[in-house]
Amino acid sequence: MAAFRHIPSIDVLLQQPAIAARAARQGHAPVVESLRAAADAWRTLAKADAAPPGDPAVWIAERAMEALETSLAASLRPVINATGVIIHTNLGRAPLANAAVARAMEVARGYANLEYDLEAGARGHRHVHAERLLCALTGAEAAIVANNNAAGTWLVLAALASGREVIVSRGELVEIGGGFRVPEIMAQSGARLREVGTTNRTRLSDYAAAISDRTALILRVHPSNFRIEGFTERPALKDLSALARRFHLPVFEDQGSGWLGLPQPGGWPEALRDEPSVGDSVGAGVSLVAFSGDKLLGGPQAGLIVGQRALVDQVRRHPLMRAVRADKQTYAALEATLGLWQREPARTEIPVVRMLLEPVEALERRAQALASSLGGTVKEGLSTIGGGSAPQSAIPTRLVSIRSTSKTAAQIEAALRAGSPPVIARIQQDTVLLDLRTVHPDEDSALQASVLNALGPAWPMG
Ligand SMILES: *Cc1c(COP(=O)(O)O)cnc(C)c1O
Repeated sequence: MAAFRHIPSIDVLLQQPAIAARAARQGHAPVVESLRAAADAWRTLAKADAAPPGDPAVWIAERAMEALETSLAASLRPVINATGVIIHTNLGRAPLANAAVARAMEVARGYANLEYDLEAGARGHRHVHAERLLCALTGAEAAIVANNNAAGTWLVLAALASGREVIVSRGELVEIGGGFRVPEIMAQSGARLREVGTTNRTRLSDYAAAISDRTALILRVHPSNFRIEGFTERPALKDLSALARRFHLPVFEDQGSGWLGLPQPGGWPEALRDEPSVGDSVGAGVSLVAFSGDKLLGGPQAGLIVGQRALVDQVRRHPLMRAVRADKQTYAALEATLGLWQREPARTEIPVVRMLLEPVEALERRAQALASSLGGTVKEGLSTIGGGSAPQSAIPTRLVSIRSTSKTAAQIEAALRAGSPPVIARIQQDTVLLDLRTVHPDEDSALQASVLNALGPAWPMG
């Protein structure tokens, strides 16, 4: 307890040259706050008779400097996704193609003709940038880029249906992912919900019976992250569109996944066979289709709205457009990604496409190499598409299973997360599993190093 007397005052600590220099650079207030916190920590230790030996002033100054350094470090950083979930919302969804990163960086570091018409030498519009490619890939007449799909859906409903009724099937009043609830978005847009049908069955006649002079539009939501099995029914999009046309009403679809459904030599995984595409919806006569840029499209976070020119123009003129517009980096990355989709052999440069198409034999080879360097074993398993696309869909993969004689699966998993770079793995039946489908081949050696580190000196595995 006598040691308490040795704690110098904050003012004295501030006179240490290193601390004074830090205060000059980083500001007086945060440095004082850090010193106080470190001094408190020392007092707590001293009370428990656990104070570190040596001069408390040195210990406090060191802790305070460490804390200040940590406070400057970025909190957002890259991780290795070894979960096998391709579109992992918590891990930032689609990784970008190199071409998309390069284009985004190019416009980010300087000025760009974002809203400038180079030919006319006058003010232009940002929406021209991705529009041509979006139309070419989906068959639509016009397109809008918003900040994300939730924003896009909100914008469309506010622009076309505020104060009026929107007809939706009860089976589609769903929550998608972390908190996108169709009824709540609807309420925020000022549109009034007119529910029809039941949770499992809604017929065309249910929609027809609900149409009145209060109706603004018919909304269709792709139930992307769940599936109602069994006794279900809902009208085909083309029949719903025909009904809406008879009453001069638009049909708006929240499609979600952004699956383009383009023909691919060698084919797409079986898991995507039933995934509806944006082009299918446009072809079925849907007036406006909204989807995410960073799901199966494999691009940046964005909300894309494609459809009929007159409606797109009407949506674009709404004041909320200004609040949900995308920035120049997003447009650049999006254009580059769409360009890769159009140039078929280059398409596999989009990481999502590469992950979807990577043959299980290639994964087997990579998994064997990793397993043998770690003493782990290779197992058959399933990757998932995730991100609210193709519910319950799975793609065959190979998993590296890791065990340790000295650590539990939970301890290994936590050590992997604490590593640099952090590795996010799954645990199944008390085993840590690494799925290489979502690990870029360039990351294999970093993954190996992180796993060795996490296992600690006490590996090999049992
Ligand atoms: C993913 C998804 C959303 C939310 O999209 P964000 O881009 O995350 O805003 C909305 N609706 C559907 C059908 C989805 O699949």
